[in-house]
Amino acid sequence: MATSVGERTMVLQRERTPFENVNMQFDLSADRLQLDQNYRDFLKRPVRELLVNVTIKDRNGCLRSFEGYRIQHNNARGPYKGGLRYHPEVNLEEVRALASLMTWKCAVVNIPFGGGKGGISIDPSTLNEYEIQEVTRSFTRAISQFIGPQTDIPAPDVNTNAKVMGYLLDEYQRLHGFTPAVVTGKPLALGGSLGRNEATGRGVMFATREMLKANGDRIEGKSVVIQGFGNVGSHTAKYAHEMGAKVIGVSDAFAAFYDPKGLDVNKLWECQLRDGSIKNFDAQQAKISRDEILFTECDVLIPAALGEVITRGNANGVKARWVIEAANHPLTPEADLILTDKGVHVLPDIITNAGGVYVSYLEWVQNQNNFYWKEEEVNERLNDSMTSAFRNVHEVMVNENTNNPGQKFPCTYRRAAYMVAIKRVYEATKLRGL
Ligand code: NAD
Repeated sequence: MATSVGERTMVLQRERTPFENVNMQFDLSADRLQLDQNYRDFLKRPVRELLVNVTIKDRNGCLRSFEGYRIQHNNARGPYKGGLRYHPEVNLEEVRALASLMTWKCAVVNIPFGGGKGGISIDPSTLNEYEIQEVTRSFTRAISQFIGPQTDIPAPDVNTNAKVMGYLLDEYQRLHGFTPAVVTGKPLALGGSLGRNEATGRGVMFATREMLKANGDRIEGKSVVIQGFGNVGSHTAKYAHEMGAKVIGVSDAFAAFYDPKGLDVNKLWECQLRDGSIKNFDAQQAKISRDEILFTECDVLIPAALGEVITRGNANGVKARWVIEAANHPLTPEADLILTDKGVHVLPDIITNAGGVYVSYLEWVQNQNNFYWKEEEVNERLNDSMTSAFRNVHEVMVNENTNNPGQKFPCTYRRAAYMVAIKRVYEATKLRGL
């Protein structure tokens, strides 16, 4: 497949992998920047890929082995940075895609990190707490010489959380001594930052607020549907509600609820905290099928679960006017084009969900200084950073469209966000003499 594709020449010769899809997004913006081919190849390729054997003794004393990955995509602007995912569908190509997205995300919000990502191909629902801890320790030992506060800094992602980061920190410290900055998203008692747990969802709503504002609209009164009610989805629902939007639909891996009059977000939270799922939310509330959630009537649709849920096969069914990518790569490139053609505004993942890594950066800074900030200070910095990152991307998009009045395909937020990111990583790469 060609490395550079025109905006409308996406002939699907075969299913592309998630990594190829991310690289396609890269190429479409690199075309606009007229980026040199040599640099494209370098910037798309991960610097290092680790494939490790994660073996534990389970609760019955039997050995169980799993495949673990850590992809270090790019470190031109700083240490590799990115989450650690536990999911049965984790595979090399997906982790590559997620690592690459981290490079562009850190550059869009202008923090001094590169991109990386880790994952273990595992179904955590089949493991008990002891086994999760053993898996995390085994994985940490396997990658410990390749991570560190100035090298590569993991964080939580799907099915991992502060507790898991605590196990990772402890195992790393057994080998290397006191090093809180080796991981972010850890418990407060181990050097975590106030505001980190909420940061991604909070950032999603700051970015959404800014996008609506920049387009002469407002978040207050908008109907919002969210797919996924984990860390990102639940906090997004909370802040959407606090900003005056009406949350009318939510789903998780087990259930989906939709009510145009609005759902009780506090009750959803109570249920999630009690059962680890929203499935027992409200027996009186209308349930819909999990897959229907993306195609319900609403103003703002926020996929906040897994990747590639909106594709060329179903994108026409989306009824929202605004699509906010809180999850990583929830749209395939074809779905992105279909929605753009329909006049839907899409806010891309690399800016939408950057609040998490932004506060991870603040956590890392606090760890290095052994000095901790108040939550208001963290939240204020997050607000400032998300607002200025969005405004910068918006300005690039408007300038592109103003300076190219005859162009067949207008510059979108995704095109502009990648342009900002690629330019920054390219500059750092070039200044290193590469
Ligand atoms: P999580 O494990 O806390 O939650 C995932 C949620 O998705 C759960 O509610 C789960 O039940 C739900 N889900 C799984 N399959 C589903 C399906 N088929 N339909 C509906 N819901 C389904 O994970 P998270 O940390 O909230 O991450 C969600 C997304 O956000 C991922 O794409 C992740 O990469 C991205 N992200 C997370 C962070 C972070 O700080 N945690 C930061 C940036 C991006």
